[in-house]
Amino acid sequence: METESVHDAWDVEHLWHPYTSTLSPLPTYKVESAKGVRIRLVDGTELIDGMSSWWCMIHGYGSERINKAAEAQMAKVSHVMFGGLTHQPAIDLGKELLKAAPPSMHNLFYADSGSVAVEVAMKMAVQAAISASGSHKKTNFATIRSGYHGDTWNAMSVCDPVTGMHGAFGTALPVRFFVPQPHSRFGGEWNPDDITPLRELFEAKSDEIAALILEPVVQGAGGMWFYHPQYLREARKLCDEYGILLIFDEIATGFWRTGRFFAWEHAGVEPDIMCIGKGLTGGYLTMSAVMTTKNVADTISRGEAGVLMHGPTFMANPLACAIGLESIRMLNEQDMAARVAHLEDVMKRELAPAAELPGVADVRVLGSIGVVEVKRSVDVGVFQKECVRRGVWIRPFGRNVYVMPPYIINDEDLTKLCRELISIISDEANY
Ligand code: PMP
Repeated sequence: METESVHDAWDVEHLWHPYTSTLSPLPTYKVESAKGVRIRLVDGTELIDGMSSWWCMIHGYGSERINKAAEAQMAKVSHVMFGGLTHQPAIDLGKELLKAAPPSMHNLFYADSGSVAVEVAMKMAVQAAISASGSHKKTNFATIRSGYHGDTWNAMSVCDPVTGMHGAFGTALPVRFFVPQPHSRFGGEWNPDDITPLRELFEAKSDEIAALILEPVVQGAGGMWFYHPQYLREARKLCDEYGILLIFDEIATGFWRTGRFFAWEHAGVEPDIMCIGKGLTGGYLTMSAVMTTKNVADTISRGEAGVLMHGPTFMANPLACAIGLESIRMLNEQDMAARVAHLEDVMKRELAPAAELPGVADVRVLGSIGVVEVKRSVDVGVFQKECVRRGVWIRPFGRNVYVMPPYIINDEDLTKLCRELISIISDEANY
């Protein structure tokens, strides 16, 4: 049962939480600790985590193996600059990442967060396009609506213009080219009309566009939409035809979330540049990476600057790299395809009854992501109060109520998450 002690008055007054008003802040619940799939609040309430702390906590909280790897690395060196120096954790993690990545990925840049990875990818694309074309005009970006790529300036500019940040920042944001999101569903029939707007855009504007950026197969925070992999095959063909680079933002989809190590595998087409983050450190620390082909890397290096113009202070932080390495080893030691397929089966079965509810517009499950789209926007504060009362942690946005648990969740806990979700939305007073 929720008590006042789980809310902290100083926190409410002074700490800014994500996307939060100081005038009417949403409630926040104070965490004492977390272990496995359970988050424990300061009053002893235990919540089954349905969010993996926004996609990243893939092995659950407090993994003994990752803790040990972190301690061992701390005893050696926690941080050292990456300019002029290198270290084994960065090398070993890089090798593992390139092994798991599309085969044409050859050069890897470590960055601080998902948003910064997107910034770096966009900078790579612009530097490569200017170098290859000799034209300073080929510097803009194309993307699909309902996308989400992060909260920094350029990342915001390619987020969905309606549901994203464009409303708040208006003309301050660079103006990008948007095409409709693909309507053909994942697992449904491919409608060739889906690709027409992209072809028309490229026909008209290819001399202005450095790259197309999109989230392969699963659009995350922009709408939790799963689309047909054929879109990626068609987009790849068009990019090649018009000399436009293709960037896959796999920050949310990576590390088995969609049932494959990376989501590009659903389509079998490779990007020129790929961003990863979130699950990279098993949810322990913020770190991301951008990978690209030898061709793009060398084209940048032949350009005016002669170097890739980026170099953050905490680049390739050894502690984060050692943690990421242990996390990947843990993934590689398991049959992750089977594990995620099982989570998918459980969620498909358990969430199916939601489709019968009058307030529900759609139910979709892919890999370890289960989405119930409701017909009207959810009041997050009201919804989460009900979650906490029932011992589950689910944080919806807009009309999407979804679960994407740590991969270690057992069937009983996953079933409880799904059943509580359905039970909450079956009474409209709860959201
Ligand atoms: N791209 C995608 C697809 C994301 O889902 C996110 C985070 N939700 C980001 C980029 C930004 O990552 P970060 O929050 O680590 O900056």
